[in-house]
Amino acid sequence: MNASKRTPVIAGNWKMNLLPAGAKALVEELIPLTKDAKCKVVLCVPYIDLPTVLAAASGTNLKIGAQNCHWAASGAFTGEVSAAMLKDIGVEYVIVGHSERRSLFGDTSETVAQRARAALDAGLTVILCVGEVLQERRQNITLEVVRQQTKIALADVSAEELRRVIIAYEPVWAIGTGLTATAEQANEVNRAIRDLLAELYSQDIAESVIIQYGGSMNAANAAELLAQPDVDGGLIGGASLKAADFAAIVRAG
Ligand code: PEP
Repeated sequence: MNASKRTPVIAGNWKMNLLPAGAKALVEELIPLTKDAKCKVVLCVPYIDLPTVLAAASGTNLKIGAQNCHWAASGAFTGEVSAAMLKDIGVEYVIVGHSERRSLFGDTSETVAQRARAALDAGLTVILCVGEVLQERRQNITLEVVRQQTKIALADVSAEELRRVIIAYEPVWAIGTGLTATAEQANEVNRAIRDLLAELYSQDIAESVIIQYGGSMNAANAAELLAQPDVDGGLIGGASLKAADFAAIVRAG
């Protein structure tokens, strides 16, 4: 992490876990543990928990995010939630393109781009997830895959808007599996994403973008991953549900 230019962002992805009472309890546990964080701390929680978590985190350094948004502002999209709706209740961040959305719910790089577009239009900060599956890593096409996902998602994003984009490199084979990319693997891909941003925008802009690593990051491996020059934080699934573990990762950030 290049501390002179970028403030790391540690984001928790609670996935489909915790009822509002449990969500409130976790936030209350996290507040004293993370109040002196040097990094930014974001909690991406289920839609149903957002009002409770926003209230519980009010006045603290914890920022709140959702885990997806629809690309339309409103309309006949039964069961969906728009970026404008999230913004209206005080949400600041939204994850788009998480591999679970891609593999289980049909998201493609094109729909991810549409979701990112809507989120930026609504004034949210986007956490854009990209990453290769195991077969792609074995075929040695990781960098091509990640470059292509990133390029398509950012096709319509201006340099000014890129300030509100965080990229999370998440190798799919490392998500929820206990397998972690080595610090060198994580840094190599994050560096390749930054090089792509330099091609698409400029070197200066590329150096300012936060590029996280995600995939079984935990209290034990966070420090080594976060010490890499191009790893500017983490997107944390499982370990974000345990206050002590998440707080330890925040301290490493
Ligand atoms: C994630 O869901 O984005 C994630 C990285 O999960 P885990 O930390 O559990 O691998």
